[in-house]
Amino acid sequence: MSVKYLFVDMNSFFASVEQQEHPEYRNKPVAVVPLDTDTTCCIAVSHEAKKFGIKTGTRVGDAKQMCRGIIIIPASPKIYIEKHHEIHKAVESILPVTAVLSVDEMVCRLWGDHATVERATEVAKAVKRAIIRDAGECMTCSVGIAPNRLLAKVAADMKKPDGLTVIRREELPERLHVLELNDFPGIGHRMERRLNNSGVTSTKQLTSLSEGDLSRIWGSRLLGGSWFQRLRGADVPESPTRRRSIGHSRVLEPSFRNPKDAREILIRLLHKAAARLRHVGYYAGSVSLSVSYLEKFRWSDGYRVEPCRDTLTLIQHFSSLWERRADGTPKKVGLVLGDLIHARNVTNSLFGNGSQLGELANAMDQANEVFGRYAVYFGGMHGKGEAVNTRIAFGVIPDTKFADC
Ligand SMILES: [Mg+2]
Repeated sequence: MSVKYLFVDMNSFFASVEQQEHPEYRNKPVAVVPLDTDTTCCIAVSHEAKKFGIKTGTRVGDAKQMCRGIIIIPASPKIYIEKHHEIHKAVESILPVTAVLSVDEMVCRLWGDHATVERATEVAKAVKRAIIRDAGECMTCSVGIAPNRLLAKVAADMKKPDGLTVIRREELPERLHVLELNDFPGIGHRMERRLNNSGVTSTKQLTSLSEGDLSRIWGSRLLGGSWFQRLRGADVPESPTRRRSIGHSRVLEPSFRNPKDAREILIRLLHKAAARLRHVGYYAGSVSLSVSYLEKFRWSDGYRVEPCRDTLTLIQHFSSLWERRADGTPKKVGLVLGDLIHARNVTNSLFGNGSQLGELANAMDQANEVFGRYAVYFGGMHGKGEAVNTRIAFGVIPDTKFADC
């Protein structure tokens, strides 16, 4: 029976890189943190630390209590990105990478005689060996093989660390019954609650629903149909969506009705919009800005851009639009990221060929994914009274500040 996708997910990626680069950390509980303070959270923990119950998201203060000897390491994004490229190359030495999904996840489409369970399993073992050979002995990964991308990712998650899991079409959907609803990418808190409200609390129940039931719960025939098919192994498009733009606007409080504060609020709105853009897996193909004035007129302008989703590039675009605005007292600012393009339709060149902004976007996506609700901010953005500097160096990730830990 044929399988179509091979999913590679690095284990405890940031922590493994630290153990690879620093032999003194190997076989020891290690936690990687954004900032070296007790109030921040772990963004990655080694297998040894996981044994103490420490997870991504555990507060550093708690982690120190749970494991007295834990080694706390501030993150080095630049090194993680370099390692990402080594791994990417290693995988490509075995088979082409179809899509890079984050700094530690990639997926390969299996073609021809690779698309049998036996051959795919051999290829998966070869991928694991190539990664260890080229990126180092600590760089273990979990591989999932399945008839579609959703299930390949689910399979990769089923065994950690160093897993190799195959989901065969003929085992579906029963094979999935051991999973929790939120083990499926695409079923977040809100969707889980919606399922619960419809009386669905287990994957077994989920897989017993008809296409009509799923469509009703998801509020879309396309989505319901897609889930029904994919849970049974069909290779149909992931979430079809009609999303076209993301926008935010704000009426300014009277004390902020001046160019300096208005610009700062605009940048915050932009930060929020860019985070949403990345969260839903899209790139912006156009930017537009509008300003309404106390003097009762409105100005707006925009243009098409090379598909982008990293905050710095977007700040640059909006800064140049802002410079063009009409004179007057700003009363309301609004921005739209338009002509959205799904990440899978964006050419690979954005990720590779030394595109630092692409790499940064990847790293920020990874951080966003890891943090969930803990947003990642560029340091300058919250500085009251200090205009955001668009010349922030991005050879390394600028100061990051993690709110709300
Ligand atoms: Mg991972």
